[in-house]
Amino acid sequence: MIIAIDGSTASGKGTLAKRVAARFGLPHMDTGLLYRATGAAAINAGVNLANEAACAQIAQNLDLDRFDPATLRTAAVGQAASKVAALPAVREALLNLQREFAGRPSGAVLDGRDIGTVICPDADIKLWIDADLDVRAQRRAAELTQMGASISAEDMARQLRERDARDKGRDVAPMKPAEDAVLLDTTHLSIEDMVSRAIEIIQAALKPSQTTDNP
Ligand code: C5P
Repeated sequence: MIIAIDGSTASGKGTLAKRVAARFGLPHMDTGLLYRATGAAAINAGVNLANEAACAQIAQNLDLDRFDPATLRTAAVGQAASKVAALPAVREALLNLQREFAGRPSGAVLDGRDIGTVICPDADIKLWIDADLDVRAQRRAAELTQMGASISAEDMARQLRERDARDKGRDVAPMKPAEDAVLLDTTHLSIEDMVSRAIEIIQAALKPSQTTDNP
């Protein structure tokens, strides 16, 4: 079973993907980390984030184990990720890695922006997670503050607006719901409510033989 969870930044999709993967006993890939690592590595190497060939080469040779995940979570790396993610050759370089993960015999949960549209168009379940911009900005600012960074919700909202516009407006694999995705707005949902609602949607979409609840 392949579960594709796409949506905007700080919509709750990452948390949801982890919980859904644990619930159904599936491996999980946070595909945003691939773009974050590519952006971070490009910055570290002094590569211009608009240099498509150089960024694609970095993406092609990416070794995620060499990155401290905490350093990839910063707002600056998020912006860099969104810049390199707009480069077609970078997306191409990261495609097989994601498809191979999705093709594991066990199935998988992948979260990102284009899982349901490009990476796994035949996914068994597609969820599109979104929330109001201000709520997302508050969530992400709180998360970064907890990690020791200092950013106001207003500055975060500005950054998210910019990132949303770039992710939606790019020519290749723009951020958008697949036509057959189920939409889940988490603006007014607690994490537990979001997870319960998503699990209900998944179970309703599955044939009984695919659920893990069978006696
Ligand atoms: O989800 P996260 O905020 O970690 O993603 C960072 C950036 O990576 C996004 O803003 C987006 O530009 C890019 N991304 C993407 N496609 C994905 C996952 C992330 O373009 N599947």
